[in-house]
Amino acid sequence: MKAFYAAEQKRHDPKMFLSSGAQQPNPEQPERVERLLSGAKAAGCTVERPRNHGLGPVAAVHTPEYLDFLEHIFVRWQRIEGASQEVIPNIHPLARDGAYPASAVGQAGYHMADTACPISAETWDSVLWSAWSAVEAAEAVMGGAPSAYALCRPPGHHAFADVAGGFCFVNNSAVAAQALRKQAARVAILDVDLHHGNGTQGIFYARGDVLTVSLHADPVRFYPFFWGHADERGEGPGLGYNLNLPLARKSGDAAFLEALDVAFRRIRAFAPEALVVALGLDAFEGDPFGGLSVSTPGFSRIGEAIAGLGLPTVIVQEGGYLCDALGDNLTAFLTGFGGKHRVG
Ligand SMILES: [Zn+2]
Repeated sequence: MKAFYAAEQKRHDPKMFLSSGAQQPNPEQPERVERLLSGAKAAGCTVERPRNHGLGPVAAVHTPEYLDFLEHIFVRWQRIEGASQEVIPNIHPLARDGAYPASAVGQAGYHMADTACPISAETWDSVLWSAWSAVEAAEAVMGGAPSAYALCRPPGHHAFADVAGGFCFVNNSAVAAQALRKQAARVAILDVDLHHGNGTQGIFYARGDVLTVSLHADPVRFYPFFWGHADERGEGPGLGYNLNLPLARKSGDAAFLEALDVAFRRIRAFAPEALVVALGLDAFEGDPFGGLSVSTPGFSRIGEAIAGLGLPTVIVQEGGYLCDALGDNLTAFLTGFGGKHRVG
């Protein structure tokens, strides 16, 4: 299968974030790209550079206020005397339906959920190319390819329509799903990242044309804490079009595959014409986040199982952090998926 990636995606290089209040090196490192690229190549992918798709496909799921913020905040931040090198928020609104602040500090707090998304001079460019990789993969599938892989880095599934969070700025999976809607009346997003895909859920929460399903470590004691619970089912016309399947901490292959069966039942009943897999590899037993215990052969079985849906599929890279098996886990997933995938 084709894989899409642009070298600009590697330039975003966040230095820090806060974990349990302590300053730590940011885990969303450019080196992830090298591991994922070799993993994709080992699975037989040919890697192509996406085209520049402009702001249109990104603006289809994000607010103009937010995109203007992302593009310009770094330069504005540099004018603040004594400010940090990277843009990092230190105050957040309790409710987001009030006035919109004019100040850079106020807007950083408004548009950033946590400290995991430092913005540097390179961030906006990397974020756009990451989104364009997702668009290119969606276009390949709309052009008749049974599947395509978007090596999206920075990742996207924690980004809401107007909020960055959890290493994510633009929601690449949502961008891909919205692009697929040009041809597909109904699109399902299946998120298998360790963490709940809260941004993706938020973007489609009131819509019935995009089904969002997420398997993840139970947020009752895990990031993102405030979303991902089983009682979040959608709202308005989207009620019944969001399914959360929280898993007990340290759940392994068997529990994950069992929850996938529940996800598949919902997806089949939705009868989508295309699928987006939000592929986090951080459910791995050796991932530094240590939330779940999926094994490397487990990723292969997960890929095989998803292939059994028989849908045109865009695979979008989400999380999965530096550990020896990161590339192998991608190879395992793509090989398992590719060996069983037949559309129709
Ligand atoms: Zn994750």
